[in-house]
Parts: sequence; C-alpha cells; structure tokens
Amino acid sequence: MRKSVPIVPRRRATDRPAPLLSLIVPMFNEEEGVEGFFARLIPILRKVTEDYEVVCIDDGSSDRTLPALEQQHAKDARIKVLSLSRNFGKDISLSAGLDYARGRAVIPIDADLQDPPELIPEMVAKWREGFDVVYARRISRDVDDTQKRLSANWFYRIHNWIADVRIPDNVGDYRLMDRRVVSALQALPEKTRFMKGLFAWVGFKQTGIDYSREARAAGTTKWRYWKLWNFALDGLTASSTMPLRIWTYFGVALGLFSIFYALWLVLRTALYGNPVPGYASLMVTVLILGSINIIATGILGEYVGRIYNEVRNRPLYLVRESLGLEPATPKMEQR
Ligand code: UDP
Ligand code: MG
Repeated sequence: MRKSVPIVPRRRATDRPAPLLSLIVPMFNEEEGVEGFFARLIPILRKVTEDYEVVCIDDGSSDRTLPALEQQHAKDARIKVLSLSRNFGKDISLSAGLDYARGRAVIPIDADLQDPPELIPEMVAKWREGFDVVYARRISRDVDDTQKRLSANWFYRIHNWIADVRIPDNVGDYRLMDRRVVSALQALPEKTRFMKGLFAWVGFKQTGIDYSREARAAGTTKWRYWKLWNFALDGLTASSTMPLRIWTYFGVALGLFSIFYALWLVLRTALYGNPVPGYASLMVTVLILGSINIIATGILGEYVGRIYNEVRNRPLYLVRESLGLEPATPKMEQR
C-alpha cells in the first residue's frame, strides 16, 4: 500500500517558542487612539514580562489605523498586525485573534483604553496561582449613558434567565485565558460568535477582579442601537433554544383552554339557545391567534436563519495582510 506523501510540506507553527503572554486588540477606525494605547500598554507589559506579543486585528478600518499599526510594528516587532478584508465585527475579530495568538496566556483588550491595562499584572498573578480564566468585572458603568446601562442590564437578566449557562454580571471580553481555554474556544465550530456566551460555556477554573470602567480615550463608540439590538438577538439565540421551545408549551396550553371553552359553548347553546352572535369576540380571537402565529414564525425564522449560516460553512473571516504572524492553528486549512 502506498503511503500518502504531502505535496507541500506543512509549515509547523510551533517552530518558534510560544510567547508567555498574547494580547488581542480588535481595532475598527481607531487611528486617533493607537499611539496613546501603546504608550500606556507597553510599559505595563514590560513590567510583567518581555516575552509578550500584541496581536492587533484591523477590522476593515477605513481610516489610517493600519498605517499607524505598521508604524508600531516597525518600532517593536512584538506588535503584530492582522488586517481583515472588511469589517467583520468585534466578535469575529476576536476569534481571528484567538487563531493567531500563540501565547500561553491570552488577553483580549479594547483599543480605546476602556479596559485599563493596569489590571494585567494582577491577571497574570492570578493565572500563575492556577486560575484558567481571570475576568475583569466592572464595578461601575458610570461612563456609559443610562440607556446603554439599562439595556445591558436587561439583556443580561433575560439571557441568564433563559440560557443554559450564566454570563457573570458586568463582565466583558476583557479577561486572561489560559492556552487550554483558548484551544477549547477554537474547537467550537459555530459561526455566530457570541463571545460572552462562548466564554461562559467553556467553563474552566475562573475568578474575577474588579475595576471601574473608564471613558473612551479617543474616537467614538462603534455600537449603535440597531447593531446592539442585533447583537443581543444573536446572543440570546446562540445561548438558548428556549424562545423556540416555549411556543410548544404555549400552544398546548392554549389548545387545552380552547377545548374547554368549546365544550362550554356547546353546553351553553344546548341549555339556553343561540345567544347574539359575537362579532367582537371572534375578531379578538382571530387577531390574537394571528399575531401569535406570526411571532412564532418569526422566532422560527431567527433560528432557521442561523442554521443556514452554520450550514453554509463559510470561513469566519478573510485576511488581507499580516505582519509578523503565523496562525497558531491553521483553522481554514482544517475545514
Ligand atoms: N471593534 C471592532 N470591530 C467593530 C466594532 C468595534 O474591532 O466592528 C473594536 C473597537 O475598535 C474597540 C472594541 O472593539 O477596540 C470595542 O468597541 P467600542 O469601544 O466601540 O465598544 P463599547 O466600548 O462602546 O462597547
Ligand atoms: Mg469602548
């Protein structure tokens, strides 16, 4: 029997020793902030270790974020850049970062300095104590406006009520993860990357440290209401099939009620004769049932849409350019 010989020898990503610490920084139109971000981050990192890498994901920025990052790479080769072919959104940028980061511990961090880099030494200390995940918990969200705070609050409440795994309160993507956790995340095949839900799902030994959320250092938030709403919908449907299943129970309950109601109508007609035909009650019944039908169909559509997305099995993202990076696990090759 002939043994199959690979035509192109696979480059081994593990030839270089893995750095101790990787940071993943998703960036979308952050040109104003790049300089200040690294000025504050790098000294802190260097106090923890010289063995670090910073993987910046340029998420299809239309401003001068990429040239600014290239400049940083020229100054310090440990600052690496992955430029996606278009804007894919923060969660997919994070997934891309997780594929390319090689550190034994990995920390995703926002580029706008809302996640204070000063927490990194403490995170690393906890990791060295033996925790697999050290997340940063915001004790105040004063800087966000009331509307955002309230909607976030409600989202987590509903999510934790219906979802199978709880997302801890007031925890974002800013956290340290051991390599084991990163590998687990990469092994999850779904395309709807609701990172907070995935982080919660993988589990492992977790702990949190508290901090207060600062205001954005430069630029503006990339989340507008419609985007946030869609994000919430993705999050809920990614974590739970409850919205889909609840209709079965609702339908059964309504069906039982209808049978008794019908029996009662028959009985009433037999005893007292035909009362005045009720146009109003009929209309109301038809309307309510009609709307329930439409809602149920809509919810079905939400899931079917996502199934479609998964089945299409497109690659999560496309890379346009990369500086100083090779994928830790060549995910697109695997599929
Ligand atoms: N971001 C991204 N792609 C996007 C939107 C945002 O990579 O489509 C990045 C952004 O550059 C920042 C981080 O995600 O580093 C958090 O975004 P932002 O500060 O706008 O969100 P907020 O803090 O308001 O929730
Ligand atoms: Mg921000």
